[in-house]
Amino acid sequence: MFKLKNLLLTITLFFSLVSSAQEFEYNYSFFSNSAMTGDYFFSKTTGSDGSFIKNVNGKLPVNDSVFHTPGNSLELNYRNAPGGKWQATLFRQEKRGMDHFTKAAFLTFWIRVTSGNDLPAVQLMRKDSSLTSAITISPVKAKTWQRVSIPMASMKDFDVNQPENCIAVVFSQKNNQENSENTIFIDDIVFLPKEKSEPVSVVPVILSATGFALHVDITWGKITDKNIQLVKIYRSEDGKLYKPVGIQQPYINRYADFAGISGKKFFYKISFLNSNFEETELSAGVSATTRQMTDDELLTMVQEASFRYYWEGAELTSGMAKENIPGRHNMIASGASGFGIMALIAGTERKFITREESVERFTKIVNFLEKAETFHGVFPHFMDGPSGKVETFFGKRDNGADLVETSFLLQGLLAARQYFSGTNPQEKLIRDKITAIWEKTEWDWFRQFPDSKFLYWHWSPDQGWVINHRLIGWNETMVTYLLAIASPTHAVPAAMYYSGWANQDSTGIKYRSNWGQTEDGSHYTNGNTYFGIKLDVGVSNGGPLFFTHYSYMGYDPHFITDKYTNYFFNNQNIALINYRYCVQNPKKYKGYGEAAWGLTASDGPFDYSADEPVAWQDCGKIAPTGAISSFPYTPTESMRALKNYYFNYGKFHRLFVQ
Ligand code: CA
Repeated sequence: MFKLKNLLLTITLFFSLVSSAQEFEYNYSFFSNSAMTGDYFFSKTTGSDGSFIKNVNGKLPVNDSVFHTPGNSLELNYRNAPGGKWQATLFRQEKRGMDHFTKAAFLTFWIRVTSGNDLPAVQLMRKDSSLTSAITISPVKAKTWQRVSIPMASMKDFDVNQPENCIAVVFSQKNNQENSENTIFIDDIVFLPKEKSEPVSVVPVILSATGFALHVDITWGKITDKNIQLVKIYRSEDGKLYKPVGIQQPYINRYADFAGISGKKFFYKISFLNSNFEETELSAGVSATTRQMTDDELLTMVQEASFRYYWEGAELTSGMAKENIPGRHNMIASGASGFGIMALIAGTERKFITREESVERFTKIVNFLEKAETFHGVFPHFMDGPSGKVETFFGKRDNGADLVETSFLLQGLLAARQYFSGTNPQEKLIRDKITAIWEKTEWDWFRQFPDSKFLYWHWSPDQGWVINHRLIGWNETMVTYLLAIASPTHAVPAAMYYSGWANQDSTGIKYRSNWGQTEDGSHYTNGNTYFGIKLDVGVSNGGPLFFTHYSYMGYDPHFITDKYTNYFFNNQNIALINYRYCVQNPKKYKGYGEAAWGLTASDGPFDYSADEPVAWQDCGKIAPTGAISSFPYTPTESMRALKNYYFNYGKFHRLFVQ
């Protein structure tokens, strides 16, 4: 009896542990809105033998005035011809960390037939590009949005538990069609775990509306009702006629509505939708007025928004930064948390939050880190927030320490230790716990060999040095050597700065020329002139801009001068080379110029890439962080970019929230 009771207790504990660590599950969605107007990037159309589908350079047109969810839908304007075939493929945009999904029991989408009645066939595309059998859509009522719901259980060649095996939805002409012209609109294509959704009874309330130069930020309370799938935002110019302008995911409780004009009063209401798009009543209206802003106010606006990513977007148990949003809701990234800590300190100093709120958050962070899993005192790249255990997000070999991520985290923590200088017990506790974390970090273990010239990036508890990646500069990892040398408890010799980081023997030369695909800078020093600017240190012509950002959040580069250069001026030159490359724009990408520049590492339409100002590493992607994080080096050029991104590209912000 006693044993059984214990067993039951163990089982209960086990399941409560599992359920508390349950990752958020996304519905597997193919389309809700196109981030850009004109055409849908993740689509592809073909037509043959007299059959045709309207397209923009082989992609489906986007319609901004006809939509089921604001702000757009896909327009399928097609001509069927006997014996011909047209096809429109909608690829799913993968996002890093969106890898837990609900069951794909039903494929649902919304359709509006404007003209014609020959509806297309629907198929799913698997990872190997093969297609499932075709499904026929039953006739629908014209000129109104109708829901199509297809039970996946009927498809023998599709596993409802593995939605991620499906990479696209394909619409195409059915066989044996007569000549016909048809126009239909499609929106909100998603797999759902069940056909019907419970109604939502929560009454929506807008908590605040704040006007900025061209947009209004509105906020509402944190959503806990699991049946709420979306928040729908309505705008009015007169407080009477409200038009839908946007949707937001339920785990984000704010929306930036880009109204596009300064000095105008706008009114807002919101509603909640379940997965059938059944809508609650609308909230009461609130208003805000947009206003012209000075450069200083614009900067504060951007800084506060950046701060909020870490403040409002933090993982709940640890208070640390998620790898990305949307992404995994429980997983935190060590290095990003270091950057987040810097933002929290700045936000405290700028009074975006009170010092008491900040102390409370930092207490949570240090309490978490004190107990989190480390390897020789070094944190992993990714951790599960609820449990503090390593997450092998980058594969089985990366199941231990990450020295570089840890140094990004520690530079933040050491800045916090200095910032929280109060004599009260709460601030003293933060300082003491940071000191304990700092002092147990075994930098010297990461030499691998007693006389090693180099520090090594990773160590695994069961596979040792299997990744075997030496840290060799110049890149983002300078802070790792500087902290390792500065450690009060596990220091490495200062000589490793030159023997390892700035290594000039065959190991370093080979490493750099492999990654830079050039001999330029392969000896650590460079000495060449690019776009009229001399570069003292740097591989190729300087590399991605994040090299000039990450290490220097904790170390002011003005005060880092070695045998070869001063790193403020070297970083400034790298930023200017990057700027001039983008202005010259040798690959003639649309949008590049004096106000859109800064090649660096980021996710993008072709997944992650670390872009550089050289042709082979320039895929046409400008990440806002490139120019904006370079403000200390290039204030004029960075401000120009910030204004361009906000005033001219602000309306495309829906890219980031859906
Ligand atoms: Ca839509």
